[in-house]
Amino acid sequence: MNEAQTPAIAPATAKPTTGPDFSGLPLSPAVLENLQRLGYERMTPIQAATLPLALAGKDLIAQAKTGSGKTAAFALPLLANLNPRRYAVQALVLCPTRELAEQVTQEVRRLARAEDNIKILTLCGGAVVRTQVASLAHGAHIVVGTPGRILDHLSRETLELDALNTLVLDEADRMLDMGFAEDIAAIIKLCPKQRQTLLFSATYPEGVAKMAAKFMREPQEVKLTERHATTKIRQRFYEVKDSERLHAVGLLLNHYRPVSTLAFCNTKQQCRALVALLQAQGFVALELHGDLDQRERDQVLVQFSNRSCSVLVATDVAARGLDIANLEAVINVDITPDIEVHTHRVGRTGRADEEGWAFSLASMDEMGRVGRIDEMQGRASVWHPLSELTVPADAEPLHPPMVTLQILGGRKEKIRPGDVLGALTKDLGYAAAQIGKINVNEFSTYVAVDRCIAKDALRGLNAGKVKGKTVKVRRL
Ligand code: AMP
Repeated sequence: MNEAQTPAIAPATAKPTTGPDFSGLPLSPAVLENLQRLGYERMTPIQAATLPLALAGKDLIAQAKTGSGKTAAFALPLLANLNPRRYAVQALVLCPTRELAEQVTQEVRRLARAEDNIKILTLCGGAVVRTQVASLAHGAHIVVGTPGRILDHLSRETLELDALNTLVLDEADRMLDMGFAEDIAAIIKLCPKQRQTLLFSATYPEGVAKMAAKFMREPQEVKLTERHATTKIRQRFYEVKDSERLHAVGLLLNHYRPVSTLAFCNTKQQCRALVALLQAQGFVALELHGDLDQRERDQVLVQFSNRSCSVLVATDVAARGLDIANLEAVINVDITPDIEVHTHRVGRTGRADEEGWAFSLASMDEMGRVGRIDEMQGRASVWHPLSELTVPADAEPLHPPMVTLQILGGRKEKIRPGDVLGALTKDLGYAAAQIGKINVNEFSTYVAVDRCIAKDALRGLNAGKVKGKTVKVRRL
């Protein structure tokens, strides 16, 4: 993205450039090698603070949020506790939402590649129980899921926790917010007493402290001071009239040219109106709202996270539990009345060690809210005039770098990311650098390809084969 004289920022990743490397930890050579292959060279601050304790078997309460590298901070210890030759559930990760559970599963899967044949199962509400029962019958080493559905399986006795040695509570504060306290307590009662418990939470309210006191063994507490608001995130406020508000979003996008932007509105109506306007202006913008079914929601999130959608427009509720690491900008289309919510919104950019922009549009009516934000942040907000958002007449419209192709066929057809990459690179001759993220879902596979090869790649895939079979492919 460009700001007047600042050079474009390279695509953001959570990769820390400072901090200790992993080699000082008691990890096997295979695990270290896998970390290297994943590009994990240095520990993130939360990993550096928790891994030595957790790998020594201690119970932990860690204050960390999504994007900090917290998944690896509990995944590496739970994998270290695992005996792959024992076919029983040895680790359970409880998450507040299905989305988070799926992200956690993917990350654990990547980290588990150092060992052969570690089976990980996701058990969340919304999916068919019968299918889950069948998968459980095949055995799993690690289960990741939401408390309601996990308890359901425990009461059906389709899941057993006798062999469990690691219990992880991820985003404990949000699980309590969502009313899972009793379910969690009931699940923990069914876990062996002799176990390691790792609790991660973005905030540390009384409910979390109580839960920790009740269910944990001399837990060590790890807190990291928040660096976000001061160093990595640049916040700018623009005063707008209500009639200019939605139009101002397009101006911000064309001026700063962020690759991925999350735009927050206070209401669904506002979201809908903004997406319609942005699409009419030629932006690739999508809305995330509660009325989408799971498949539609997955498609929206895949397109946003693989950089083929420039702007995701959402309400705070719809954006709960999203983990998107590469956000260059957040736009507060309205100022939220809840100051904590403002901090959460802004904290979604500038993750890990990257820089990010947070733009806020405020009308005169919202100045009271901005005043309270200033008070809480302990500094005055920085105001810029809307008139500075100029766009050269010959500027190219802002396009996302990638395009998503959907292959009709997924895990059910045993498609793996390597099969798709092979079809595009070996069979069709594209460079690996032109291929982005590949997501294999149950019935569909999504592959991001460079915008300039999208048309040809679509034609090529439709005419060729993936895993020896012809496939149907369409552009999203
Ligand atoms: P999380 O906070 O666990 O959701 O992690 C955020 C992102 O950072 C994920 O995409 C991880 O794969 C990535 N990540 C975590 N730890 C590291 C590390 N030490 N080096 C590079 N990337 C990392």
